Amino acid sequence: MFFDFVSLFPESFASYLGVSMLNRAKEDGLVSFSFANPRDYTTDRHRTVDDTPYGGGAGMVMKPEPLFACVEDLLGASDVPRERTRVILFSAKGNRFTQKDARRFVAEYDRIIFVCGRYEGVDERVAEHLVDEELSIGEYVLTGGELPAMVVADAVTRLIPGVLGNAESAETESHTESGVLEHPQYTKPEEFRGWKVPETLLSGHHGEIAKWRAAMSKKTTDE
Ligand code: SAM
Repeated sequence: MFFDFVSLFPESFASYLGVSMLNRAKEDGLVSFSFANPRDYTTDRHRTVDDTPYGGGAGMVMKPEPLFACVEDLLGASDVPRERTRVILFSAKGNRFTQKDARRFVAEYDRIIFVCGRYEGVDERVAEHLVDEELSIGEYVLTGGELPAMVVADAVTRLIPGVLGNAESAETESHTESGVLEHPQYTKPEEFRGWKVPETLLSGHHGEIAKWRAAMSKKTTDE
């Protein structure tokens, strides 16, 4: 999977994408991360990427021209067919991103271009005419689309075959097809500050453990 991050602040990605599972997936050639700065697609002397909103109001709005030029350049230079490429704009008013979307992206696309907004947001013509969909990661307002882009890239990457060590673990996690949340997990020590690991998990009785986990999953999901 190729991930392209269109951002005015490409330096904000390095620490997160450069460690642990995402970095390993990159080293193993399962994903690649590229960065494009809309500022590099401006044509004026001041390299202007934002301007005041029509109709008045607070803050600045990201201009359409650099974003169109940037994304169109990425699309034009790509070997991945357009129908296997998804262009996503992050916006607080977009559709809520879910695990189902992560699965859809892995199944249907080989390249995802993330457009990260900043300031008061992005000229609406980008949502209407440049991108394929508009996503939000939750009901709160962040400073920019960089964190949402990393959230989606992370959720998608761990579903790519070969990324997780144990192929089963993605299937038994929370928010999978079953709609059931995962049961609680424990590790050593058996007793910590007087809090004990549930007896059933120590019993070695796989049938009972499976029953306990199913009951706990149900309880967590229903709560
Ligand atoms: N004025 C906008 C509003 O009220 O919806 C908020 C703009 S926000 C300060 C700047 C950028 O951060 C947005 O263009 C978007 O790319 C990103 N952003 C903020 N909150 C987000 C969220 N919950 N989900 C996805 N992206 C978000």
